[in-house]
Amino acid sequence: MIDYLDKAARLIRESGFTVAFTGAGISVESGIPPFRGKNGLWSRYDPKVLDLDYFYSNPHDSWVKIKEIFYDFFGKAQPNPGHIALAGLEQKGWLKSVVTQNIDNLHQEAGSKTVWEFHGSSQWVVCPRCGARHFATEIDMSELPPRCHEDGSVLKPDFIFFGEGIPREAYDQSFAAARKAEVMLVIGTTGEVMPASMVPYEAARSGATIIEINPETTPFTNQITHIFLEGKAGEVLPELLQRVSQLIVD
Ligand code: NAD
Repeated sequence: MIDYLDKAARLIRESGFTVAFTGAGISVESGIPPFRGKNGLWSRYDPKVLDLDYFYSNPHDSWVKIKEIFYDFFGKAQPNPGHIALAGLEQKGWLKSVVTQNIDNLHQEAGSKTVWEFHGSSQWVVCPRCGARHFATEIDMSELPPRCHEDGSVLKPDFIFFGEGIPREAYDQSFAAARKAEVMLVIGTTGEVMPASMVPYEAARSGATIIEINPETTPFTNQITHIFLEGKAGEVLPELLQRVSQLIVD
């Protein structure tokens, strides 16, 4: 029987440009649930709190929920062995960048250096009027909604809400990385969120080998995945890093 982990490890060692594309699944083992599904965040919260119109007309209610989910709860999460293994691959020069749909900063906390945050980040809050950006940890959230010191406007987390556009630089860099990729690791994502889900398709169209890591199959699996490594990111990725490290390549 073919050992798919060994095959994936060899492809990564021989690749001149490997990129990882990650979704909510990689953070599940850090205690952050995905949005959808039985135990997803949207089974407990109404997604309208991330709707721009609702946010601006009900800033207090939105911010109470946003603080609870993204700052009190996400804020306590730590990177897991999956995040750490990706940082290890990058440190060794075997991974060029991570394109992530996540907004939780866990790749950076694990040590990843080149991370393109397709949906922005919860680490920053911005003033929609004057553009001032602040570290979320430096904002006083004892009184909600938090307001800009300069002009008193309601501050907004610097991740995208429903209907908002993708940050320009992250968009351009993510698709540029996809076009250059010889191997793309697609980890913990269903690919249901557009346009993020186009990143792996762009890589595949440009000739990349797609290695998918997920406990379940996804729409990518039958369409573009070449090697499917069934399992949890926190278990498969450390094993993959170990195998890549052990390979002797001439
Ligand atoms: P999704 O919720 O649609 O799908 C999650 C995927 O992860 C599923 O395919 C599931 O089988 C898989 N998964 C579950 N446990 C896993 C594990 N231990 N290891 C590997 N895979 C596992 O996720 P999505 O495709 O990223 O789309 C959700 C959207 O919500 C994204 O746009 C993202 O921005 C956002 N989101 C972010 C966070 C975060 O920042 N951590 C959390 C929830 C949602």
